[in-house]
Amino acid sequence: MTAIYKGVTLWFTGLSGSGKTTISAAVAKEVRLRDRNVEILDGDIVRTHLSKGLGFSKEDRDTNIRRIGFVANLLSRNGVVAITAAISPYRHIRDEVRAMTADFLEVYVSAPLDVCEKRDVKGLYAKARSGEIKGFTGIDDPYEPPLTPEIICHTDRETIEESTQKVLTELELRGYIPSSKYSSSYSQ
Ligand code: ADP
Repeated sequence: MTAIYKGVTLWFTGLSGSGKTTISAAVAKEVRLRDRNVEILDGDIVRTHLSKGLGFSKEDRDTNIRRIGFVANLLSRNGVVAITAAISPYRHIRDEVRAMTADFLEVYVSAPLDVCEKRDVKGLYAKARSGEIKGFTGIDDPYEPPLTPEIICHTDRETIEESTQKVLTELELRGYIPSSKYSSSYSQ
């Protein structure tokens, strides 16, 4: 008999450049290989569609996260592994989304600010430091780390593969995806 797996909202949070996009893409790829439906709601992409026109004020950031949470909930309650990868800096909004979502796992993608700044994947930290961008998370806007996330990836000391495997293992243990013996690139 084929096992029925429940959907889940897998909520990545962390500073810009901490590794949310990288790990979420690797996790999604592997989850898909295990025959589960997956959608990624990436912060940057959402801002060009669902949240087009919203800025980075506290109010707009909250609206953006509520919209992502709303869509992720719709997906996950219909059996999808819904992965979100937005900075989502404010704890109270993440907790609000958690409260309205039946299956919710928070992944804290943790790396010290100086590491993220050194990576400066999108060149945004340089712009924030020069004042070209105002209200940048970690520089002149707060980032509130989760207090009790289900998963923490320390991307300053783990490889991308280790961080990815950590998330996959948790999804397996909690019964949201089949175990790796049925597949694939991350199997032991
Ligand atoms: P974010 O989506 O959080 O802004 P990105 O995923 O775009 O961050 O960038 C993270 C950068 O850090 C990438 O260049 C990635 O190769 C690097 N990196 C180094 N170690 C890790 C790790 N363990 N997990 C994820 N990314 C890592």
